[in-house]
Amino acid sequence: MQMKRRIAILGSTGSIGTQALDVISRHPSLLSAEVLTANSNASLLIEQAIRHQANSVVIADETKYDTVFNALDKHGIKVFCGEESISQAACGSNIDMVLTAMVGFSGLKPTIEAIKSGKAIALANKETLVAAGSIVMKLAMEHRVPIIPVDSEHSAIFQCLQGERSAPEKIILTASGGPFLHKSIRQIQEATIQEALNHPKWNMGSKVTIDSASMMNKGLEMIEAHWLFGLNPKDIDIVVHPQSIIHSMVQFADGSVTAQLSIPDMRLPIQYALTYPNRQDLDTQRIDFASLSRLDFLAPDTDKFPSIAIAYDAIEKGGNIPCAMNAANEAAVQAFLENKIRFPQIPIIINKVTNSIQHIQDPSLEDIYQTNNTAFEMALKMTTN
Ligand code: MG
Repeated sequence: MQMKRRIAILGSTGSIGTQALDVISRHPSLLSAEVLTANSNASLLIEQAIRHQANSVVIADETKYDTVFNALDKHGIKVFCGEESISQAACGSNIDMVLTAMVGFSGLKPTIEAIKSGKAIALANKETLVAAGSIVMKLAMEHRVPIIPVDSEHSAIFQCLQGERSAPEKIILTASGGPFLHKSIRQIQEATIQEALNHPKWNMGSKVTIDSASMMNKGLEMIEAHWLFGLNPKDIDIVVHPQSIIHSMVQFADGSVTAQLSIPDMRLPIQYALTYPNRQDLDTQRIDFASLSRLDFLAPDTDKFPSIAIAYDAIEKGGNIPCAMNAANEAAVQAFLENKIRFPQIPIIINKVTNSIQHIQDPSLEDIYQTNNTAFEMALKMTTN
């Protein structure tokens, strides 16, 4: 009989977190949500914790502690607050797997702590590998901890590699192209927040949706793929595939290409990671090939989307530069969402920061935290003038 897998969801009130809880609720004999953490959405966290009979919750925003405690204590659910508690909750002896679904660089520390305490990782936080890929992968190796990708492209690649004994020759990451695929450079220059948030295929959180619009998301994913699958960046291609039916592909030495296809639904890669290596039922919409009739592919337009080249350049330079790129992007996206800068300034700011930050070839974790702070501050300053 299969043991029940006990899950900690870091970022349970976000897009990935809520869909993960949906998956968990469909397989009560296989999966349980033991620990839930959220930044500040106290009301949703409370509702989730009661519905899923969580063991404990963490609310990062300490001002919300009393509200959460008063609602959950009577249900016997333990309540903690503060950033520190997130890492601790993920490391408890009652946890088998940690789903890292928080947004941005904040995912790094709890992921590292979870690896150190031997927890399997379902990785939905790509910024963790972008910022500190060499450190995180080395730690995972040392602690014999599996890192199962949740990002749909990386889950596709992971699925394509099951049962293969040969290393891939090439990875082909597919990109929907985002909301600006068919817009002119002029239209992109004048893009509003609403237009950038209007993703044609995927319903996601605001950070990743803006990253999709700039295609920085694909740059981050290229770096994520480099660390997860060990390929040289020059062997990771990006192809725009507007239908988002093929979620990525793997090419082998004999020219054979394998692909993973489905109607876009994030619950599929989430469930695959949570129940790996088994597949379980899921009520996703099935592909009707006859009505689908065609799949399109095109090269990304690097003039319209300079972020892709910035990402290849950053991983080529290596060391702390991808971390600086990620931090500058986080600051620039935040500034764009606050209406402080216009859309085309995002890659300009990232470029300036990665070109002026001090390059450290073999950064320690301390260097990574330092780089993140410095790059974020540098980028923020550029958004105020
Ligand atoms: Mg993705």
